[in-house]
Amino acid sequence: MKRRVRVAVIGAGPAGLCAARHILSRPEAFDPPVVYEMTDHLGGTWFYEEKAGTYDNGYPIHSSMYRDLRTNLPKEIMMFPDFPFDDRLPSFLHHTSVQQYLEKYCERYDIARHIKFNTVVEKVKPVSMETETGGAVTWEVISHSTCRDQNTQTFDSVFVCNGHYSDPHLPYIPGIEHFKGKVLHSHSYRCPEPFANKSVVVLGAKASGVDISIELAQVNAQVILSHNTTTMSLPPPLGIRQASAVVGILEDGSLQFQDGSVTQADVLLFCTGYNFNFPFLCPSDLGLDVQDLFVTPLYKYLLPPGFPSIFFIGICKIICPFIHFDCQVKFALAVLEGSVELPTQEEMKEEVQKAMQWKQDTGVQVKHLLNLDKDQWDYYLDLARVGQFTPPEPVLESLYEEVRIQRQKDPQKYRQINYRLIDATQWELLEAPPEQ
Ligand code: FAD
Repeated sequence: MKRRVRVAVIGAGPAGLCAARHILSRPEAFDPPVVYEMTDHLGGTWFYEEKAGTYDNGYPIHSSMYRDLRTNLPKEIMMFPDFPFDDRLPSFLHHTSVQQYLEKYCERYDIARHIKFNTVVEKVKPVSMETETGGAVTWEVISHSTCRDQNTQTFDSVFVCNGHYSDPHLPYIPGIEHFKGKVLHSHSYRCPEPFANKSVVVLGAKASGVDISIELAQVNAQVILSHNTTTMSLPPPLGIRQASAVVGILEDGSLQFQDGSVTQADVLLFCTGYNFNFPFLCPSDLGLDVQDLFVTPLYKYLLPPGFPSIFFIGICKIICPFIHFDCQVKFALAVLEGSVELPTQEEMKEEVQKAMQWKQDTGVQVKHLLNLDKDQWDYYLDLARVGQFTPPEPVLESLYEEVRIQRQKDPQKYRQINYRLIDATQWELLEAPPEQ
């Protein structure tokens, strides 16, 4: 009889829970997973921490959630495909509803008893180097719990689900040491009140930069949103100014923008994204190059070609995360079950290199090579075709595009719209939010 596959899952955020849920659904092929979670709760990013900085045990606070955050995707395209949100909720949710959803998911699939809370994974290493034979490598996972007990366990496979929105990315600004005000990253931002009536320069106009600028302007902060993309439409009554990128800080502490203009500010708020960080791995041992904003080569954005039994879930950006995790996990399990025949190590490497090179040739910057956006739907179709599972329904892509249009039109009010999925291809607008 074939031995069942033993899997370690690092992290009990949405990706780790999704991995555990699908592993548990295949008891004939897999042992129940061991899910390592360094905090005392599940939910990852979605578990709001009022405090920023460090936990009592000295570890950095994981979540970057802020108090009033509402989702930037409607629940119809945020949900795991097999587990809808409560119909009575509006489309765009307060973060607490997402946390409740994840708790229900965990309950529904009986995941919690497989989570080792307060247990940090310190080291993951391949213990047998027979990479040519594919799955022959086993993995040693060294962890320690809050009471400092160290533990080593061996697994056939590891799902890396440690999240990528925790380690602030802080691009260097020449002269930053001259800045006299407060400098912080959105990772530590919780609410706008401390910034009332202050002048704040927000760096970066992706989801958090725009949302936080709007929050700050609503408490009468004088906000300058500095970015190097094209000027966006922001609600005029809020008075948010837009400026080009900050290129340096002058000796008197004022900020200089790319167009030569100069301003003073009380606060410099970096909304400049997050670094990849796998402190428990030695990337070069796995043939991986991990940079702040890029990881390569990962075949199908998922596995190092030389080690096809360790899976990095959710490395891509600009995606529908929960749908993405679901497809990646199903594909990874198909690989482990042996129902997907992977190309040779060299072929996988070459495929990744070619794809990345092609993107760079079309002008994509290295820091954006893992952005999928519109390409995510073809990626899911490909994973589903090879992994032999049902792909996400076309209605999800169609609604994703609609939300993009509405968000661009009005980044403040698009969250007031409510949607309903009609069938696999159609969605409709709801006139009023569902009755709660
Ligand atoms: P996380 O949620 O970060 O979970 C990772 C888990 O791993 C954590 O519990 C952590 O404690 C644990 N962990 C880390 N290292 C270790 C270790 N060494 N040992 C043990 N445990 C470890 N997504 C959406 O779909 N819609 C949104 O509207 C949306 N808004 C967002 C807003 C903000 C401000 C941010 C930061 C993200 C947002 N996201 C949104 C993306 C969000 O990160 C994903 O939805 C999702 O939480 C990622 O799940 P994850 O499991 O990969 O990582």
